[in-house]
Amino acid sequence: MAAADIRLGALEAGGTKMVCAVGTADGTVLERESFPTLTPGETLPGLVEWFESRGVAALGIGAFGPTRVDPKAADFGAILETPKVAWRGCQLRDAFAEKLGVPVGYDTDVNVACLGEATFGSCKGLDDCVYVTIGTGIGAGVMCGGNLLHGMLHPEAGHMLVTRVAGDGGPCKCPSHASCLEGMAAGPSIELRWGKPAAELVERNEVWELEGDYLAQMCMNLILCYSPKRIVLGGGVMHQEQLFPIVRKKTLEYLGGYISAPELEDIDSYIVPAGCGGDQGILGCLELARRAL
Ligand code: ADP
Ligand code: ZN
Repeated sequence: MAAADIRLGALEAGGTKMVCAVGTADGTVLERESFPTLTPGETLPGLVEWFESRGVAALGIGAFGPTRVDPKAADFGAILETPKVAWRGCQLRDAFAEKLGVPVGYDTDVNVACLGEATFGSCKGLDDCVYVTIGTGIGAGVMCGGNLLHGMLHPEAGHMLVTRVAGDGGPCKCPSHASCLEGMAAGPSIELRWGKPAAELVERNEVWELEGDYLAQMCMNLILCYSPKRIVLGGGVMHQEQLFPIVRKKTLEYLGGYISAPELEDIDSYIVPAGCGGDQGILGCLELARRAL
């Protein structure tokens, strides 16, 4: 069978919805359907059946975390200590691998999105890149030398410490940290700080100056720690395109000339929007499935 004819399954397992898709290795999505994330008992059998009836040759799963992504671990593919209590300890990957009997690739939602961008999107052809989603939470997927970074568990760069901007006494929404990036700058934090959903604050320049500052602190830290060749910023909050020039300018200011690289001299091509039309997660799952075959 030609590669183009092999049907691959993709599952974006999110905290509020599960997106299932069937597609091919070239990144064509043939069919997709979303299901609400209830409990594992209520949700998983229907999803397994969905893929079973479509005869996929392999499946790629991008899961919400924290989750075990080390293939050598006994609990590979399990959801760990999530606030979504019903999912704690759920052997998510096994639920599909055992029933479908096909190879199943498994990684975090943001690592998978990073893979999607590196294969089909804004980082096509790059082996070292970072994808960040700024949405309900903030999370970063990291590719180093062509491999998605796992390490001890997996990066949780969304919770990096940020320095409060002078005069910003706004609340940090994270229950674990006094001033972490997610707590200060994710969508719900913007709403808490300014009293309106982020999408209704378009005209308020001070909102985006402040948001851009925290995201620039993040970009600086990502550059210093991972040395990516490009950074992709996605997620709902980045629909505010006016953020990009602010983040780029402030990132260079924070770096203070410490890192010199040609990539940073063309900052508009270095910190960029997602390039998969919002499909980086699903396309990354397809690539993960292809690699699992
Ligand atoms: P999730 O992170 O849950 O997968 P999203 O990436 O869509 O989903 O992020 C949702 C968050 O993004 C919400 O907090 C919302 O306020 C914010 N958001 C969604 N659309 C916009 C927009 N157009 N402008 C600014 N913020 C937005
Ligand atoms: Zn935090």
